[in-house]
Amino acid sequence: MHKTHQATDLRTHVAAVLRAAGSSQEEATTVADNLVEANLRGHDSHGVGMLPRYVEAVLEGGLKPNSNVHLRMDTGTLLNLDGQRGYGQVIGEQAMRLGIDRAQQHGSCIMTLGNTHHLGRIGHFAEMAVAKGLVSLHFVNVLSRPVVAPFGGADGRYGTNPCCIGIPLVGRPPFLLDFATSRVAQGKMRVAHNEGRTVAPDTLIDEHGRPTTNPGVVVVPQSNGLFGALLAFGEHKGYGLAVACELLGGALTGGGTWHKPTDPKVRTILNGMLTILIDPTKLATQVSFEEEALAFVDWLKAGPVSDDFDAVQVAGEPERLTRAQRQIEGIHIDDQTWREIVATGQKVNVKVPNQ
Ligand code: NAD
Repeated sequence: MHKTHQATDLRTHVAAVLRAAGSSQEEATTVADNLVEANLRGHDSHGVGMLPRYVEAVLEGGLKPNSNVHLRMDTGTLLNLDGQRGYGQVIGEQAMRLGIDRAQQHGSCIMTLGNTHHLGRIGHFAEMAVAKGLVSLHFVNVLSRPVVAPFGGADGRYGTNPCCIGIPLVGRPPFLLDFATSRVAQGKMRVAHNEGRTVAPDTLIDEHGRPTTNPGVVVVPQSNGLFGALLAFGEHKGYGLAVACELLGGALTGGGTWHKPTDPKVRTILNGMLTILIDPTKLATQVSFEEEALAFVDWLKAGPVSDDFDAVQVAGEPERLTRAQRQIEGIHIDDQTWREIVATGQKVNVKVPNQ
């Protein structure tokens, strides 16, 4: 079962809960806007359904409200930042503002960010950069319960390590590629489990390493207390990209990699992110970059469309279409997720209006 909510109502309620959980009004608004934006763009895995997990992480002490990004090292075009376990939505924006400023001054910026709580939808940060005409690359690791099996492995050893590339297209919305390196995002398994759905074959293995279509194997502990695991997208190639995300987002940033047994009680999710920003106007290729990028996208779209598809799209388009639709029609939230959101509000004495 689903109930439909308007984005503005969700923003107000989520911000009130975050405020009651210790955030300043400004922080609560930033995080709430970010979560609702993820729902609007069709990524419910990174939307308001994360609220219960965030409040639990605050209550256990692993997520520190009202933290700011800390500059650990600065050579002008190389920045090393520490997120001090603050809300990733806030820390990520602060970090991106610093990096964008440097890329605009020097033509490029390489920025490492470790020790920040969940950054949510990584595309949000690429969108900040492409809005200023910059190319933005992101390699991210996840320190939480390791939910993805290595290629050829039979248990979870690392996180859903997202990768994101934003490229401005002159006079058009940007190319915005933003995905988890697992075949599907872990949060999508939570949503499917809450909705009582099974998922596509070749997505998951159970706690014994056997294929399954039951998303519950990565959401709730199984009979022997163990979890199943997600598989990497693209077999050995996606797995290789995920390892690169761990090495760049975890090891290079100073945030750390995952290499220890799971503690299922811990609710904190930490991210590390390597960001590379490039200002095309500072390269001698700018004119041809703009022309060639548009020519290639047009070429892709000019081809015949396969029977199973309505159109050839480029990354970023599906999210923009979903956003336009959900602004009008509202955001569907399944009953289980909504019950968890309501219960989280009650923990900090915030009621949903008219319930
Ligand atoms: P997904 O599988 O829906 O893939 C999304 C990407 O594919 C987008 O760039 C989209 O525009 C593109 N795409 C989709 N359909 C397309 C089509 N028909 N043609 C061309 N391009 C198409 O995304 P996902 O893997 O479920 O990831 C969802 C979100 O989860 C992302 O925003 C990611 O950053 C986020 N995430 C965050 C973390 C974290 O720890 N912070 C971890 C994992 C994922």
